[in-house]
Amino acid sequence: MTQRARAVPVLMYHHISTSPGMITVSPAHFAAQMAYLARAGYNTVGAARLGAFLAGEPLPPKSVVLTFDDGYLDNWVHAHPILQEHGFTALCFVVTSWPGEGVPRPNARTGGALPELLGHREGDLAIEGGEADRTILRWSEIEAMRRAGTFEFHSHTHGHVRWDKVARNQEEKCAGLRRDLLDARAAFRTRLGEVSDHLCWPQGFYDDDYRRIAREAGFKHFYTCEMAPNVGNKNAAGEHSIYRLEVRDRPASWLASRLWVHSRPWLSRAYLKLKR
Ligand SMILES: [Zn+2]
Repeated sequence: MTQRARAVPVLMYHHISTSPGMITVSPAHFAAQMAYLARAGYNTVGAARLGAFLAGEPLPPKSVVLTFDDGYLDNWVHAHPILQEHGFTALCFVVTSWPGEGVPRPNARTGGALPELLGHREGDLAIEGGEADRTILRWSEIEAMRRAGTFEFHSHTHGHVRWDKVARNQEEKCAGLRRDLLDARAAFRTRLGEVSDHLCWPQGFYDDDYRRIAREAGFKHFYTCEMAPNVGNKNAAGEHSIYRLEVRDRPASWLASRLWVHSRPWLSRAYLKLKR
C-alpha cells in the first residue's frame, strides 16, 4: 500500500427518519451523503479493521466508519436499504433489553406500508412505557441486517442507564454498570452467537470507574460522543477511545467538507480548537 489513512473519521448517526428532530437525518440527506461517499471513493470500515488501524495497522486513505446509536426501527426502514444499495457496512450499537420479537416489518426496499416512525422524544416515552417495539429494531430485523452485511451489531449496555446519575454511591454505580455490561454480553451471545469488545457509552458518559469496569467485562474499544482525529498508534496499549463526528441533517457537501478536514490530523485539531 503506497498511501495510508492518517486519521479515520467515525461518523455518528441516530435516526434516519422523515419524522424530524435534533438527532435525526432525513432519508433524502442520508441517501445523498452515502451517494457522495460512494462517488468520492470512500470505503466503509467495520469494527475489527478500525481496531486494527488504531493498534497500528494501515488502512487505505478514504476509509470511514459509520455508526448508529440505540438501534432505532428507522435504521431498518431507511438506512439499511440505502447502505445495501452501495454495499456499505455500518456499526449499530444496540441496547440489548430493547429489541422485540416478531417478523421483520416492511422497509423502503421491500415495499408495503412502512411502519409509523416516532420522533425521538415520543420514542423515549414509548420505551419508558414498555412499548419499545414502536421505535426500536426487532431481533428479526437485526438478523436480516447482519445477513445482508449492512450492519454489524455492538454493545450499548443492556439498559442504557446513567449509573453515575441514579446510583447513591460509587459502589452502587460500579455494580450497576458491571451488571449492565455483563447482561449485554450474555444477550449478544444468546441472540447473535457472538459479542465484540466494542462498546458505546450511553449518552457519551464515562469516567475512570467506567473504563476499568468495561475493561474487566471484556471491552477495549470505547465509542465517545466527543470529536478528535482517530489516529493509529503502534505503541498504543490495549484500550482505545474512539472519537465521532455527529452528522447533521445537511446536504452531502457539508459532509464532504467535514471529511476533508477530519481526515487530516493537524487540520482536524486546529479546526476543533478554533471551534471551542
Ligand atoms: Zn444511546
